[in-house]
Amino acid sequence: MGRRLWSRIGCDCPLCGARVAGARLCGGCEADITALPRGRPRCPCCALRLPATASTCPACLGAPRAYVRTFAAFEYAPPADALIQMLKIRLRLSMGPVLARLLAAEVRRGGGLPADALLVPVPAGRASLRLRGMNPAGEIARSLAAELALPLARGALRRLRETPRQTSLGRRARQIGAMGLFAGAPQVRGRHVAVVDDVMTTGSTVQAAAIALLAAGAASVTILVAARTP
Ligand SMILES: [Zn+2]
Ligand SMILES: [Zn+2]
Repeated sequence: MGRRLWSRIGCDCPLCGARVAGARLCGGCEADITALPRGRPRCPCCALRLPATASTCPACLGAPRAYVRTFAAFEYAPPADALIQMLKIRLRLSMGPVLARLLAAEVRRGGGLPADALLVPVPAGRASLRLRGMNPAGEIARSLAAELALPLARGALRRLRETPRQTSLGRRARQIGAMGLFAGAPQVRGRHVAVVDDVMTTGSTVQAAAIALLAAGAASVTILVAARTP
């Protein structure tokens, strides 16, 4: 391929700057960030890495989840957390397809989603929409729908009220703050819903989303996140 043509369609790996074809990580960076530290498997339900000696997840045993499963592409830790910050802080919309590709690969590795699954992004709060002019979860979900050839239902979750910035709150305060946060639309009735978000930290936001979707008649809820806080 001619140098000039290559320079027009080629992109740089967002983590190491190596030349790659299309909006994606280079093979080396992708392998580095998707490998689990010390090979420890994730909890299938909440995607936390299981403690070295445990076969079940203490967090899920202590607090039953409304969702059946969580897929997470990588840990929210250096160097991969930079990918999330490029989208959420530097507003690089080209990271939407990059993150969606990583997440789609994780879903396929884990056996995929039901054929009739409906992708639903977690809606952004008003303040965050004003700040960014876009919803990072919505950007990932849009590209993910194309990757997985599944329908996207943007309006299927509605935010009932605004929440204070969650980063300043502890786990318990987040859980209380997320209760009754969302309502599900009638279109989810009988559907297997896959909720898409950028980062899962305590899981209180996706738990609130799952409760709202089940209340609206969803058959099941699965969580898809680009990054999981370890
Ligand atoms: Zn790279
Ligand atoms: Zn768990």
